[in-house]
Amino acid sequence: MDLRPRVLLVEDDRQLGPLVAELLGTDFAVTLASDGREGLELALAREWDALVVDRGLPRLDGLRLVQSLRAKGLATPVLLLTALGTVPDKVEGLDAGADDYLVKPFDADELAARLRAMTRSYALPERGRLAVGEWELDPASRVMSSRYGDRVELSGTESALLAVLAREPGRVFSRAELLALAFDAGETPGAVDTYVHYLRKKTDKSVIRTVHGVGYQLGELS
Ligand code: CA
Repeated sequence: MDLRPRVLLVEDDRQLGPLVAELLGTDFAVTLASDGREGLELALAREWDALVVDRGLPRLDGLRLVQSLRAKGLATPVLLLTALGTVPDKVEGLDAGADDYLVKPFDADELAARLRAMTRSYALPERGRLAVGEWELDPASRVMSSRYGDRVELSGTESALLAVLAREPGRVFSRAELLALAFDAGETPGAVDTYVHYLRKKTDKSVIRTVHGVGYQLGELS
């Protein structure tokens, strides 16, 4: 079974289309459509993890293609390729329902990186669940699970602490903040360090990152 994310590329340029499809082929299962109508039909006919749509397309232009998909309720992430890099042009693309855009000429590595980010967020945890690196935390059941089926049960305090960090993955929290947000009244700041230690012991050291002199931040558990 092919586990690569499925990407529909809609690009009419006879050289660029096959070239991009080939370059992305290492990471993605790419299908190429060469005009807007064909793109729309394919986009609706199958499930995709992401769409890459050229803005200037024959038969149905890229903006209209994205608008029609959104009007039909399709939520698949769309990256728009555009030859115009002006601000109004980008705004127009995003307003039409695209999630990201890339200005031509673009670097194939950058396109691949953006698609990885888009397909990652497409696979985001179910409602209520929080991403902890590549794991998920379900605060309701206090269970952490990996995509490989590993499960770790957490105590109420461990789960509360990790949930606070996971809700704002980029933010560094001080001990005082974590104490106020995740612990019962009356605990001392040392309790934060103790529970960080418990969480690392139950999962891995990388689950929480120490930011020296400041506090803690969600780590990159893989
Ligand atoms: Ca074109």
